[in-house]
Amino acid sequence: MISVLSDDQLGAVHVLLDRIRARQLQDFGQIGSDVKPDGSLITDCDRWSDAALVEGLASIAPGEGVLSEEGSKTVPNTRAYWVVDPLDGTTNFAAGIPYWAISVARFVDGRPSEVFLDVLALNQRFVALRGRGATRNDQLLTSKTRALATSSCVSLCSRSIRVLQRKPDQRFPGKIRLLGVASLNLVSVAMGQTIASLEATPKIWDFAAAWLVLDELGCPIRWLGADPAHLSAGQDVADLGFPVLAAGSWAHLARFLPWGEALLRPYRSLLREEGSVGYIFGLRGSREAAVQAEALEAKALMCLRRLTRPEGAIPRCCKFIKRSREAAMTNQPIS
Ligand SMILES: [Mg+2]
Repeated sequence: MISVLSDDQLGAVHVLLDRIRARQLQDFGQIGSDVKPDGSLITDCDRWSDAALVEGLASIAPGEGVLSEEGSKTVPNTRAYWVVDPLDGTTNFAAGIPYWAISVARFVDGRPSEVFLDVLALNQRFVALRGRGATRNDQLLTSKTRALATSSCVSLCSRSIRVLQRKPDQRFPGKIRLLGVASLNLVSVAMGQTIASLEATPKIWDFAAAWLVLDELGCPIRWLGADPAHLSAGQDVADLGFPVLAAGSWAHLARFLPWGEALLRPYRSLLREEGSVGYIFGLRGSREAAVQAEALEAKALMCLRRLTRPEGAIPRCCKFIKRSREAAMTNQPIS
């Protein structure tokens, strides 16, 4: 297995993307008259695109696994594998808002190595190759390209916008934009369209391609929860969210980091308060208590990492921990 794609393979990915692109543009034009209450047209387009990409990539790079939003969501057991979002921004697509993307990333040793991000309605295709830079429609992008923009916009998502409620006494230091496409929210930072992007629960296929574009353009990324570079083969990432802040400079990162941390803080402090493994273990001082405490900690961390339904999952978990602590104090079994 080779660690870098050949020019022929890169060319073949472009041809494959052209084919997916043609079908999606065709379907998008028909949505007004064809979409049904159950959204089956969109589902068909997502599924068709996913299947075509998975099949196409398997023939371009035989033996390399594929993880995709509509297919297998398990980290492949190969050194090189692909992470695919066949249609990022389905809500926009379904609503007739012409802003969505095809995201295809090839990972080597757990990090993106070659990525493609197609913004169909703008007729733009981003490509980034690790250590070799990033291009938009074959034009090389640099940090200078980004610096030409004088934006003060900051991209939030429909979940990260709740950060405004976490710091109600402070003015958010940027003009808020909700574009509705996670991959493009992040890449907007690399383009200089925004100065930062805060995503609350993106899945790996949402940011896989954008991650390398940001890296190649020197834009700092801070993972606020789980670090996607630490996935292991066979891991199920279907429900795993990766809260992230990306910024156009280290100064911008520092400026928005308190807001990123505020997004997760309530859950972190709840866990610290209620989920003290040492506290429970110290009270019970038994092997049984240690095992129970470890299970609680694992459950709490899982809730924190997933953050898929944070408003419900974390409090439920903390209630469980609280019951356990009370049981430990009275030396009763945990109910
Ligand atoms: Mg999608």
